[in-house]
Amino acid sequence: MKYIDIHCHLDREDYGTDFEEVLARMKEKRIGAIAIGADFPSSKKAVAIAEQNENIWACIGIHPGYVSEAFPLAARVEDELLGLEELIKSPKVVGVGECGLDWFRLDLASAKTVANKQKELFEKQIEFAIKHNKPLMLHIRATQNSFDAYKDVLEILNHYKKEAGGKLRGNVHFFAGDVEIAKKFLDLNFTLSFAGVITFIRDYDEVIKYVPQERLMSETDAPFVAPVPFRGQRNEPSFVIEIIKKLAEIRGEDFDSLNSAILANAKRVFGI
Ligand SMILES: [Zn+2]
Repeated sequence: MKYIDIHCHLDREDYGTDFEEVLARMKEKRIGAIAIGADFPSSKKAVAIAEQNENIWACIGIHPGYVSEAFPLAARVEDELLGLEELIKSPKVVGVGECGLDWFRLDLASAKTVANKQKELFEKQIEFAIKHNKPLMLHIRATQNSFDAYKDVLEILNHYKKEAGGKLRGNVHFFAGDVEIAKKFLDLNFTLSFAGVITFIRDYDEVIKYVPQERLMSETDAPFVAPVPFRGQRNEPSFVIEIIKKLAEIRGEDFDSLNSAILANAKRVFGI
């Protein structure tokens, strides 16, 4: 393995017709990946994919978007959490998530109820991660022009930190906060990962330069948001090389040494 994509959704139907070719390109380019679950069925598929491929691992969890008007927090969530207890027995499961808070699509009429339910679901998964001593894969999305969801996640994590200490750790996926928010996650011993958006939007340059090399991660979030020069196409783990190139360019660092540091970070945090 030479490169790592720590966050992709290989279970999705987007890969239905040519999944073998996607896997072949990963092998050819020596790409490792962590397949991410967003509910119980997708977590189960991610684990199955990881068990069938030595260069793929899995995170299991329930995405906060699961709790919305369309998907009310029903008894099914309890069943799904019980299902995660089974899945975590696989040695290929290296983290819990994606989980977190998503205030971006909150519908104002139901905002308060949905927000509280998202928090409840997130806290259950933090407790699950601490119990099994696994890192968290966080999904955080704030309302526009705000860092509200980041602040709420930090408050929750700081609460758990007091008891859990070093067992509470993980990565903030698709980091979209500023330097001040980044510092707070770094203080909590989290890493930050960046996806394809950094290849065509300059808003993240300052925070990318700020993150110490030993706390930086690379991800595609495939099949979403393909990096330049693949923009508009379906994304896939082998495109992570373009994201690492851009990280090195923005930071003014040598590609190979930055890539080695990123790979070492993923190995350390996820135990892969
Ligand atoms: Zn994701």
